[in-house]
Amino acid sequence: MPISLVQRAAVQSSIAFIDLAAQQARLRPQIDAAIARVLAHGQYVMGPEVKLLEQQLAAFAGAAHCVSCANGTEAVALPLMAWGIGPGDAVFCPSFTFAATGEVIPWLGASPVFVDIRPDTYNLDPEKLEAAILAIKAEGKLTPRAIIAVDLFGQAADYPAIACIARRHGLKLIADSAQSFGSTLHGRHPVSWADAMTTSFFPAKPLGAYGDGGAILTEDDWLAERIQSLRVHGQATKSDIEGHSFDHDPKYLNLRVGMNSRLDTMQAAILIEKLRVFEDEIGWRNTAAERYTAGLAGSPARTPIVIPGGLSTWGQYTIEHDDRDGLAAHLKAYDIPTAAYYPMPMHTQDVYAGYPRPGGLPVSEEKADRVLSLPMHADIDADTQDRIIEAVLSFNG
Ligand SMILES: *Cc1c(COP(=O)(O)O)cnc(C)c1O
Repeated sequence: MPISLVQRAAVQSSIAFIDLAAQQARLRPQIDAAIARVLAHGQYVMGPEVKLLEQQLAAFAGAAHCVSCANGTEAVALPLMAWGIGPGDAVFCPSFTFAATGEVIPWLGASPVFVDIRPDTYNLDPEKLEAAILAIKAEGKLTPRAIIAVDLFGQAADYPAIACIARRHGLKLIADSAQSFGSTLHGRHPVSWADAMTTSFFPAKPLGAYGDGGAILTEDDWLAERIQSLRVHGQATKSDIEGHSFDHDPKYLNLRVGMNSRLDTMQAAILIEKLRVFEDEIGWRNTAAERYTAGLAGSPARTPIVIPGGLSTWGQYTIEHDDRDGLAAHLKAYDIPTAAYYPMPMHTQDVYAGYPRPGGLPVSEEKADRVLSLPMHADIDADTQDRIIEAVLSFNG
């Protein structure tokens, strides 16, 4: 979600796509105090707030570990690095997603294999996933290693089915939950099925900071420790050091090729304050989603479908229409901002066009022309939503 789409109304009555200013007005005193505490202690990198936030996020999602990092893109890359995924390896992922999901795979020299989505939820289609894995195995050129499932627009992918496929084929599973942190399926967070669940704290995401940030959650002790090492230049971890003696301070031992991917203390301090109200905000987002869905019932626009047993965090409220561009132009005339996520699935971009997509991606291609996301955030009020609903209903496209 590019920042240019985080539109803040200049005029009082104009509508924001994601109203970060309204949230800030609600939380300003706590956030000011949190920032002041960081300025006072001065531990700007890996300060105490980083550890505290990691503990709180792990508790929130019911995971054994949370390792924070610099952004949601590197959060997806770090588990792949930890598993040693590289040239000759295949990583299965949707094409109908934000580019970061697939981008990290060629970083490591591996090949993305694009898989189509379900037409109802826009998330990975388990049947097509299995078919793609079998096709790549049969071809024999690439070694299947991992699956990246995306929790698009706020809701969890079909993890019971996807995790079963991953196990059957011996593949690692990442849940890219950048748009959906806080979402559950049958009361469980995606991390309870995936080897690693990743998220982004980009400001416009459901749990956003005031800058970049990301995190990896996992039940796997080995993976958490390996990622802690990789995010700080491959430095020696506790179990690397235990039982060994060193000529130099082991702090300067670089045991693996890592990177710098740390979350700033300032962002962690801000996120701690936002996490306190996150549960409430998810509730407000769900109330707003219900209001949209009720108001748009009977219109030619298709309203979102949530997977049975799923709780969405409504990262986006995305409708479908036969004349998507006409509807967007109509709403723009009413001063209502919208966004089409994503007009170009990854495989339609030149740089990704050469990667395999066994079985094709007809659903991704169809949805790219039909989807339109309406303003959605925790602070949207009923009057604003009524204006938007009325404007959608008045379109005779
Ligand atoms: C936003 C997003 C990312 C990347 O997060 P950044 O923090 O911007 O790097 C990855 N995957 C998905 C699905 C996203 O929406």
